[in-house]
Amino acid sequence: MRYDTELAPAIVLPRSRPDGRNDPLALFNEQSLDAYRSGMQRCVELVRHTLTRARNPCSGIEPQELQPAFQAIDLDRPLDDLEASLEELQRLYLDHAVYFHHPRYVAHLNCPITLPSILAEAIATPLNTAVETWDQSAGATLIEQKLIDWTAARVGLGEDADGVFTSGGTQSNLMALSIARDSACEAMPGHAGNRHHGLPSNFRQLRILTSEVSHFSVQKAAALLGLGYDAVIAVPSDASKRMDIAALQAALKECDEAGLIPFAIVATAGTTDFGSIDPIPTMAELCRQRGIWLHVDAAYGGGLLLSRRHRHWLAGIEQADSVSIDYHKTFFQPVSCSACLVRDRRQLRHITYHADYLNPRDQAEGGTPDLVNKSLQTTRRFDALKLWMSLRTLGAERLGDHLDQVIELAQQAYRAMRQRDDIEVLLPPALSTLVFRYRPDDVDDDGDLDTLNQQIRQTLSRRGEAVVAGTRVDGRFHLKFTLLNPMTRLAELVALVAEIARIGESLAPSLTSPSARPSPVWSQSSC
Ligand SMILES: *Cc1c(COP(=O)(O)O)cnc(C)c1O
Repeated sequence: MRYDTELAPAIVLPRSRPDGRNDPLALFNEQSLDAYRSGMQRCVELVRHTLTRARNPCSGIEPQELQPAFQAIDLDRPLDDLEASLEELQRLYLDHAVYFHHPRYVAHLNCPITLPSILAEAIATPLNTAVETWDQSAGATLIEQKLIDWTAARVGLGEDADGVFTSGGTQSNLMALSIARDSACEAMPGHAGNRHHGLPSNFRQLRILTSEVSHFSVQKAAALLGLGYDAVIAVPSDASKRMDIAALQAALKECDEAGLIPFAIVATAGTTDFGSIDPIPTMAELCRQRGIWLHVDAAYGGGLLLSRRHRHWLAGIEQADSVSIDYHKTFFQPVSCSACLVRDRRQLRHITYHADYLNPRDQAEGGTPDLVNKSLQTTRRFDALKLWMSLRTLGAERLGDHLDQVIELAQQAYRAMRQRDDIEVLLPPALSTLVFRYRPDDVDDDGDLDTLNQQIRQTLSRRGEAVVAGTRVDGRFHLKFTLLNPMTRLAELVALVAEIARIGESLAPSLTSPSARPSPVWSQSSC
């Protein structure tokens, strides 16, 4: 076995006893504890070995290259052997996994994760706690609740705030907008509420306003909520990609004139592409004047709650009616770990359903804390333990410092990239993203630049050298760095940008458009 030689020889893997009554590999219980320990040790060694060998953030494999290995696998014929399963897994998964902690993984909002949070998984998974009701979780419920209260206090939502852990920003946004919709509809004269009766007859007039660069999950939520994508008004953003308040006011005025009902405004605190933070205080004031629900999507920028240097960038968030926070982004926690918070816990009634077998009404009235009462999910992982272990072991300031470091890194990288005349950076960074493209003097056709930058991205990923994101701004393809690794050094990013330019230089001559003059032969790179 390829990974075998470097593994600690002392680990004796448990063997399956398919005919025996106590097969240690079959079900976890107090009789499989030795097998649990040695199996975990083996897996730890496997991860250790794989990560020590990994030079690159990815292998560069294409789907059609990996697919055949899966066709050969018959799920109805088990290997009956842990060693053999692990060896197979190495080929199918570990050899090609994408490493978010690698300095040249700069694509999406995936972060390196704290060690205590990983250890939390080693506890929560075997115990398999489900945090839906007190009778399934006890202490776990209180751990989650304390983290919710702590986060709400950091936001400044006040005494009546509450919330719940979710699978991610997408679910948090759906939950918040669902509550906002139901709360608005409940107040409509002649309508007895959505929960029993469904949407009111004028539901086609309902509108959500959000900036044009907000997250697509707002559109998705609108569709899932029965309102449709078209119920979302994309408000233009200003030059720094923050919601344009004049445009918001104009949009609200148009709603009035057309008899539409704007029931929620979504402020993004950290847009996914630009990290830009909408002017929350002004938006909050508008919402207050008009009785509109303010949801702040802080899936990306939420980590600023822990920042010693930049907490003030979130000013106004304390006025939100609901907030989405992704701990699995800027709190450096493993996927999934997120929360949806509301200013007024009574609003959570819109998603409560009392089932006799699980969370009967009298149980809630008796004060039993059943988290299912405020969640879209029923069976739910104890994701809170990861954040808990990070906070208890490392503390909030260490997490906040990590975010401050990547913000600083983004600013340094911006200055360095601006010194190159073949790299066009769109904006100074707001949080930790940089949107840019390779743009040499002699290529100015937009279509050519799109092709060139797409090819650069593919080349980097195919070689496994770097995972860089791509996005479109005003229709034009751009590259994007999302920096979330506080251990990454500026020199590593500068080298990556130089490599991007080198690849671009070698690809430019192959462009077909007449506007792209062929480069002289001697400037072509050999790779
Ligand atoms: C990432 C992100 C989301 C979606 O969060 P998931 O955890 O991926 O579901 C929503 N909004 C913003 C602004 C984000 O950056």
